[in-house]
Amino acid sequence: MTRNPERSFLPLLAVVATLVLGLFVLRPLLADPVPDAGELEALKAASAEDIRVEVLDRGQTFGGILSRANLSPSEQHALLLAFREQANPARMRDGTEITLRWIRGNEELRGVEVALNPDELVRLDRDAFGWRSSVIETPVWADTVMVAGLIERDLWSAVVLNPDLREMPMGDRARVIDLMDRVFQWQLDFSRQIQSGDAYRLVFERMVRPDGSMRTGRILAAELVNRNTPLHAIWFDLYGDGEGGYYDLEGESLRRAFIRAPLEYRRISSVFTQNRLHPVYGINRPHHGVDYAAPTGTPIMATADGVVTRREFVRGYGNLIDIRHANGFLTRYAHLNSFDSSVRVGARVRQGQTIGTVGMTGTATGPHLHYEMHRNGQPVDPLNVDIPAGDPIPENARDRWNDYLGVRFAMLESLPSAPDLRLAAAQAERTATVDDD
Ligand SMILES: [Zn+2]
Repeated sequence: MTRNPERSFLPLLAVVATLVLGLFVLRPLLADPVPDAGELEALKAASAEDIRVEVLDRGQTFGGILSRANLSPSEQHALLLAFREQANPARMRDGTEITLRWIRGNEELRGVEVALNPDELVRLDRDAFGWRSSVIETPVWADTVMVAGLIERDLWSAVVLNPDLREMPMGDRARVIDLMDRVFQWQLDFSRQIQSGDAYRLVFERMVRPDGSMRTGRILAAELVNRNTPLHAIWFDLYGDGEGGYYDLEGESLRRAFIRAPLEYRRISSVFTQNRLHPVYGINRPHHGVDYAAPTGTPIMATADGVVTRREFVRGYGNLIDIRHANGFLTRYAHLNSFDSSVRVGARVRQGQTIGTVGMTGTATGPHLHYEMHRNGQPVDPLNVDIPAGDPIPENARDRWNDYLGVRFAMLESLPSAPDLRLAAAQAERTATVDDD
């Protein structure tokens, strides 16, 4: 179920950018229509320009393209000088789009736009004194997406293959999974705890470019029903600085001293999608840790703030890092391919910081991370340990929080619940079976 209940143009772009960009914005829109971008279309009729779009091929130069645009050498020079005030023409990448504009019926080039990257273009205009240049940021608008899904096989396919996200580019759907992983990183190890029959409901905000791709995104509200237990995450900007944090329905912070898994779910799932049920061999005995299969070179994160107490090669473990944390905790990361240069014995590390990469040093038949957690010298299960939480919503922000929570929770509740989704899936299966007869 995809809806767009909130949609607002960012202040800057509505007036300025649409007028200034004119047909440049329209051209990609017309070629590949973007849903809900109707506001821009009115400009189509206003054009009295001829436009040619060139794409920089391997071996071509900006100057080469300009020389085919009826420019005198001195004018070409002046235009390049103006361009250099914004960017280096020698460093333009293959595939850069260059738009040339003429007034209809006039041979004299009037303007040039160079799309430096998906978010910026250099605009060159001719006036009475020559060529002037400026940088324009590509317009971006906020789009709120609401979606629900049942996890039948794994989280990856439940999100990426959700038909209600089909209008989103594939890369953006993968980013939604990253965002979910981030939101619930203190509560769940997605690779080990998500089960068939789990369900999700999400409200997330995308900052969308004219081509429909996501520039940034943020989950505003999420529900993950894991083994029939709903977990909630509501984003709330407590300090009004745009950073914000995630809280459950009681206003308790989701943040914990430890994240559950030292690898991003997506990195692990890339192995698991093809080969989900294969066990990882090369286990050290006695085995007191968790093994994560992941490609060599996958970044490993410190699961909590701490101090590095070991960084060395050990028989069996291979390249090993131990980190000491508050409250008698220690974490261990083994079989590393490489250590991050910031990791020395005695160095402080932060939660989420990259400390090294996955490998298969020591006794290991395939690349994987061996992860251990100890408390007061005893191995503990990272998924079954009580961990200190972050601060809840303070009293003086409770009214604002309650208002905000009401709105966000209503949005979540408007989406199909886990039982709804299970019922729909069961009905779909029954229908399919009947069709087979
Ligand atoms: Zn292991």
